[in-house]
Amino acid sequence: MTHRDLLNVANEFGSPVYVYDAEKIQSQYQRLTAAFSKVKQLQINYAVKALSNISVLKFLHQQGAGMDTVSIQEVRLALEAGVPAEMIIYTPNGVSLKEIEKAAELGVQINIDNLSILEQFGTKHPHVPVCIRINPHVMAGGNHNISVGHIDSKFGISIHQLPHVQRIVENTEMKVNGIHMHTGSDILDIDVFLHASEILFEAARHFDALEFIDFGSGFKVPYHEGDIETNIEEFGARLTERFNEFCQEVGRPLTLAFEPGKFLVSEAGKFLVQVNVVKQTTSTIFAQVDSGFNHLIRPMLYGSQHQIENISNPKGRERFYSVVGYICETDTFANNRRIAEIREGDILAFSNAGAYAFTMASNYNSRFRPPEVLWHGGKAHLIRKRETFEDLTRNQIVASLS
Ligand SMILES: *Cc1c(COP(=O)(O)O)cnc(C)c1O
Repeated sequence: MTHRDLLNVANEFGSPVYVYDAEKIQSQYQRLTAAFSKVKQLQINYAVKALSNISVLKFLHQQGAGMDTVSIQEVRLALEAGVPAEMIIYTPNGVSLKEIEKAAELGVQINIDNLSILEQFGTKHPHVPVCIRINPHVMAGGNHNISVGHIDSKFGISIHQLPHVQRIVENTEMKVNGIHMHTGSDILDIDVFLHASEILFEAARHFDALEFIDFGSGFKVPYHEGDIETNIEEFGARLTERFNEFCQEVGRPLTLAFEPGKFLVSEAGKFLVQVNVVKQTTSTIFAQVDSGFNHLIRPMLYGSQHQIENISNPKGRERFYSVVGYICETDTFANNRRIAEIREGDILAFSNAGAYAFTMASNYNSRFRPPEVLWHGGKAHLIRKRETFEDLTRNQIVASLS
């Protein structure tokens, strides 16, 4: 998308607004499948929680993706998007047995991540095949907030508890058709990831009914120029070789599954905001925009750096700005950032706003959640309207207090 396209979107739908470039989503999907083209059975399940708009799910499904879901509501969104139940995997953490049973009834692949539920579910429903989420206790890079494979993580069943898993499987006669790990958000060191994979392969040998191995996600995408990212091609080549070898060893073709969120949609998204006020202080220049961490929480929550471009004045002289929001709380998007000269009324574009942007948005300060636009075939398609005041009051019941 060009600056002109983005400005037209801001013009047509107002600001703030999220814009997703379908072509970029498609090229990321193709890049991933190309990296694993030598795997006979590959299954890419898009992690719905990254960006759960039904039109986006539909588009990804058209590309061939299944869906990875973490709540019964996400399962329903995926079904709503026309994804067949057998292409949906449900990978919750800490949810009730009841919710898992509901998902099983809908026919989606169940992934269980604790022994208690495994035993209860296996006892009641021995005929429903389940996948087991293993914690290999390997930290595949990233910072502590977003790594979930380490020893004190709440995710998965510890690899050291495998004997107990096997006992439950034997006692209940349940069928384990898949084994899964999701070690953390950033795969930077391929050796570390392959080491975790070996642990998974070893565990996989214990299950005769195994049909797939799910390696989760953790593909790191660049957030700014020169940022580190997962070398997908090298990663694909090396894991493919090892995976195919493993299938030979066990004498059976297995499916290799992944569940990327960020990799598929992060870079496709731009978040457009308008500058309300340029405020000089004794220490910096603040550019205050018509948004805040209510719409893009990642900088405040994870310290992530989203690139910011002044698309209204891209050729302007560069100056240093602190870009902040308009909510009544510290909501810094960027500190001391070099940006083309910002004037009040300019439109700024935040990069990497496809993943965990809208889905983590809230109504804090009683602001509306912005609209979402899908840019497809050279045209802007509104795929979610801006909220209105009625959305804020819809479920409120005004108590009669007299
Ligand atoms: C969040 C999540 C993903 C997606 O992670 P990304 O970093 O967005 O690729 C995949 N699998 C599970 C189980 C998750 O919870």
